[in-house]
Amino acid sequence: MGIKIGIPRALLYYNFYPAWEAFFNELGGQVILSQKTNKKIMDDGVMNTVDEACLPVKVFFGHILNLKKKNVDYIFVPRVVSLEQDRFLCPKFLGLPDLVRASMTDIPPIIDMDIDLYRGYGRKTRSEIKRVGRIFTNDMRKIKSAEQAGESALKIYTKYLKDGFIPKDALRMTEGTKPIKKSTEGSLKIGLLGHVYNIMDEYISMNIIKKINDFGGTVITSDMLSKSAIDYGASCYPKDMFWTYGREMLGAGRYMLDNDLVDGVILVSAFGCGPDSIIKDMVEREYKRKDTMPFLTLTIDEETGEAGLITRLEAFMDLIQWKEVV
Ligand code: SF4
Repeated sequence: MGIKIGIPRALLYYNFYPAWEAFFNELGGQVILSQKTNKKIMDDGVMNTVDEACLPVKVFFGHILNLKKKNVDYIFVPRVVSLEQDRFLCPKFLGLPDLVRASMTDIPPIIDMDIDLYRGYGRKTRSEIKRVGRIFTNDMRKIKSAEQAGESALKIYTKYLKDGFIPKDALRMTEGTKPIKKSTEGSLKIGLLGHVYNIMDEYISMNIIKKINDFGGTVITSDMLSKSAIDYGASCYPKDMFWTYGREMLGAGRYMLDNDLVDGVILVSAFGCGPDSIIKDMVEREYKRKDTMPFLTLTIDEETGEAGLITRLEAFMDLIQWKEVV
C-alpha cells in the first residue's frame, strides 16, 4: 500500500479530481476521497470555520475532518492562485491551506501544492510539481510521468464536459464507467449558472439538477459551453473580469441571453461569497434590461430549506412553460 492521500470532495474537486487522482496514482500513492457531503460534514465545517467564510469553504472544512477519520497520511489542499494568464481565483483559494492549518491543528499534514498560471505554465509550476513528487519518489522520470498522467486525465475529463456531460457523470466516465445517458434529459432548456462546487454538490444544492430534470428541464452549465462562447459573453462588458470563475459565470449568462440558447436561467450563489454578490447583480441587470428570458436567483446557505427551493423552482418552471404557449 502506498502513501494515503486524502482529497476533499469539495471546492475544486469538481474541476480537477481526475488530474489529481492520476498524478498521485502514478507516483504510487493511494487516493482516498472524503464521503459525499452530508449533514454531519456540513455541521462539522460550520463549527470549525469562521462565521465570515462562504458556505463552500465551510463545507470544505467538514471534508477535511471526514478525511482525518479515514487515517490518511496527507491531505491535499492546493493553493490555487491562478488557472490562466492574467486572471486569478478568489482570495479564499489563495489562502486555503493557511486557513486550514490555522483553524485545525490535529489533522494529518497538508500537501499544499501552489498552482499559479498567472504567467503561464512554466518553471515555477514544474518546480512545484517536483517538490510534491519528491514526497513520494526521487525518480524524476516518475514525477514527469505523473505530471503527464494528470494532464491527459484532465484533457479527457474536459472533453466529456464539453460533450455535454455534467461533472458527476463525466467523473464516473473517467473512472472507466461506460458512457451513460446524460443526466440532463428534459424538454425545457435551463441554464444553470453558479460555481461548480455549489451546483454539483448534491447536498449543498439540494440536488437541484435532479429537481430541474423532474420538472422537465434539461440543464446547461457554463462548463458545457465552449471557450469562445464564454469569451464572447465576457467581452460584452466594458472591463475584463479578473476572477476566472466569476468571468465564466458572467460570460455564460450573457451568451445564453444573447443567443436564446435556453428557455430560462437560474443563478445559484453561495451566502457569504463576495465575488458572487457582484456577478449576480451584473447578470441580473442584463436579464432585466433585455427582459426576454425568465431569470431566477437562488442564494443558498446552511439554513436553506428544501421545501422553499422546490416551491420556487416549480413556480419558475411553470412560468417558462406558460411563456412557451402564449
Ligand atoms: S468564489 Fe465565492 S463561493 Fe467560491 S470560494 Fe470564493 S468566496 Fe467562496
